[in-house]
Amino acid sequence: MPVFSTRAFNKHEQVVFCSDPLTGLRAIIAVHSTVLGPAVGGCRFWDYAAAHRNASLDVADVRAEEDAIFDVLRLSRGMSYKNAMAGLRLGGGKSVIIGDPKTIKTPELLQSFGRYIQRLGGSYYTAEDVGTKPQDMETIHGTTDYVVGLESGEFATGDPSPHTAKGVFTGIKAAVRHKLGRTDLNGLTVAIQGVGNVGRDVANHLRAAGAKIIITDIVQENIERVLASGEAEVVAGDKIHAVDADVFAPCALGGVLNAKTIPQIKAKIIAGAANNVLDDEVADDRELTKRGILYAPDYIINAGGIISVESEVHKEHLDDAARARKVAHIAETLTEVFEASDKQKQPTGKIANELAEKRIDDKRRALRSAAE
Ligand code: NAD
Repeated sequence: MPVFSTRAFNKHEQVVFCSDPLTGLRAIIAVHSTVLGPAVGGCRFWDYAAAHRNASLDVADVRAEEDAIFDVLRLSRGMSYKNAMAGLRLGGGKSVIIGDPKTIKTPELLQSFGRYIQRLGGSYYTAEDVGTKPQDMETIHGTTDYVVGLESGEFATGDPSPHTAKGVFTGIKAAVRHKLGRTDLNGLTVAIQGVGNVGRDVANHLRAAGAKIIITDIVQENIERVLASGEAEVVAGDKIHAVDADVFAPCALGGVLNAKTIPQIKAKIIAGAANNVLDDEVADDRELTKRGILYAPDYIINAGGIISVESEVHKEHLDDAARARKVAHIAETLTEVFEASDKQKQPTGKIANELAEKRIDDKRRALRSAAE
């Protein structure tokens, strides 16, 4: 199966395939770029074979591997773009452990994975992601120094979600200013899909700013928590993207903006925390622009968490005010993208990708000339 020639490979520096028959570990670590700093990105523990259960065993294994390779490369490149656009001294990477965490996750397997990270000598730092938990990071930390998002320790930055939520709120305000020409949110309606760790805080910030919120979640308890702290209209999950609102804030899943949902969206702005919201990175980006809907690129608006983690990688103490200033800068970055998009008549997602690549390429050239 091709790796170098896939679109997702896109200038990766290094891809490491890890196998340990003693613990059952099969993992891939992708380092997209270390130009701006050490590559940082979470470890996804995922049963890639589950989607191919109906195929014969051999075919299912091959397809699962293909999916894992595609996933890790795409996510790793995404981390490079996210960190570049947030102006961080961090590169982009990601790792996946292949298999069902419920059945194969053991401390021995996680420690074996940690040894592979350690061998990379600090070019890749891992963190929690889908299928891994804070305790798993502590276990991995037993065999490698290169873990962030830890709950304790001198430089630990703790839960990134409140910073992500603050960044999303700031980004919504920037998008409203650009698209609707308003400097406040008073009386505007925002539809939030998913009121978990990030969505709940976004809801609270919005209500405090005078916005009306419409929410949905598949977990009733999460809806109740939002209702307990103030007013909100609740709708069924499959209706939220289509409600009458000024802003749609996806804060749950990826792929929610697609050929089926986009024609039903009434909001003039899409600005939320969820990663990979565009089902088709090129076609959906273009379609939103065509329909006059302003899309705040996901990896720019949801960068508050990684902004908070940067100091942990560089072993620095960052006070709350400095961290808040960095998160607030998301508004300026988004405005730069919105203005370039208007000027060049190109979709915002495309503009963001080009700006991120330019930032990385410029630094790469500067490093090369300094070395010559
Ligand atoms: P979370 O799991 O705490 O919250 C997600 C919420 O979405 C949950 O309440 C869940 O029940 C709900 N949900 C799931 N499927 C749904 C559906 N079909 N319809 C409606 N609701 C649904 O996760 P989170 O940490 O709040 O993250 C939310 C999103 O933001 C994710 O896509 C995540 O990748 C992204 N993100 C989070 C952070 C962070 O700091 N936590 C940083 C960057 C990006």
